[in-house]
Amino acid sequence: MSEQRNLGTVCIQGGYQPKNGEARILPICQSTTFKYESSDAMGRLFDLEDTGYFYTRLQNPTNDAVAAKICELEGGTAAMLTSSGQAANFYAIFNICEKGGHVVCSAPIYGGTFNLFNVTLRKLGLDFTFVDPDAPEEELAKAFQPNTKAVFAETISNPSLVVLDIEKFARLAHSHGVPLILDNTFATPINCRPFEWGADIVTHSTTKYMDGHAMTVGGCIVDSGNFDWMAHAEKFPGLTTPDESYHGIVYAERFGKLAYIEKATAQLMRDLGSIQSPHNAFLLNIGLETLHLRMKKHCENALAVAEYLVGNDKVAWVNYSGLKDNKYYELAKKYMPNGSCGVISFGLKGGRDIAIKFMDHLKLAAIVTHVADARTSVLHPASHTHRQLSEEQLIESGVQPDLIRFSVGIEDAEDIIADIEQALNF
Ligand SMILES: *Cc1c(COP(=O)(O)O)cnc(C)c1O
Repeated sequence: MSEQRNLGTVCIQGGYQPKNGEARILPICQSTTFKYESSDAMGRLFDLEDTGYFYTRLQNPTNDAVAAKICELEGGTAAMLTSSGQAANFYAIFNICEKGGHVVCSAPIYGGTFNLFNVTLRKLGLDFTFVDPDAPEEELAKAFQPNTKAVFAETISNPSLVVLDIEKFARLAHSHGVPLILDNTFATPINCRPFEWGADIVTHSTTKYMDGHAMTVGGCIVDSGNFDWMAHAEKFPGLTTPDESYHGIVYAERFGKLAYIEKATAQLMRDLGSIQSPHNAFLLNIGLETLHLRMKKHCENALAVAEYLVGNDKVAWVNYSGLKDNKYYELAKKYMPNGSCGVISFGLKGGRDIAIKFMDHLKLAAIVTHVADARTSVLHPASHTHRQLSEEQLIESGVQPDLIRFSVGIEDAEDIIADIEQALNF
């Protein structure tokens, strides 16, 4: 699609355009394989000479339609679905950074991504420097090394809710000849389109707001097509020198702006196989159809809950970028003028023990690991997702020991607030 459409229209109609007499609704192509008339036709697909489907591990029409919708929502040039957000971030990095490579990474990020980078990818020989995203540019520049291949951050960090200064990070990355990869899970393209601010590649855990119903684990990678791999050819040999496993194809030469996603599909997905099932992609697509409506409601409700908490004297602190005195209010206003996300965090007077008592008395809000879906949910990271971390490590990753992560759903705000009130008064 080359014409510019508004995001609500893309949510409903993006990715799949039925032709005369075809199904109005995106069909689930529940087939592992695809038939060809001649051996030669099949051979040409394997040589990447022709485009076409041959095996669902590489590509599937249902998945491609959903990836194309997310691609259009982000304003990118190419996209692929993955089995999870973890797989998306792994592929996004590993596609351009191999053994001996280094990544500059914002420190406050999702715990699962932190473990992936800091433990598992280190075992594969990658190196990471974690930086304070609020540090001045001169300070952040010191983190770069000759072997740095990318900068990674989250638009809004989970669970610490740090809003990234995207332009600052894009400038830093580009002045060091590397792309900026942003995990845009919490903001979604409805509230923030990072490519418009200079990011090069965007990743998603579609498990969260995109699916929105807590039904399917999934991920997505979108490429803006703006990063010029050939201009920094020596840094990215995987894209700019022949791929022995694909008859010596040079991705950046053959595929131009599509090179990054072509390589991630033809090489990483072929070898590692973290595909999204077409059935899950179908469910994800149903979620995407209401993303623009849900994000608006999530943000309205989150602001109402945050304002209620600020006015309650049992509450020690509240973190939500929609509050005027929040550290990130101005950045959020710049990058996300229509609202940031539905997740807020707060602490109660009395600390950790009171937080647990409060959570146990909630009725409408459920204690679940999940976040960012239609139902209000709550989590105490220090006791749950970040349980293995020491108090020191907790504070380093931006998670105070008393922090309650409250994912405000799209129920009626008055009922969510009434539930909080009764649990606070217990
Ligand atoms: C949940 C999450 C992930 C991991 O996604 P999964 O789909 O759970 O694998 C990555 N990044 C962010 C910001 C997340 O919230």
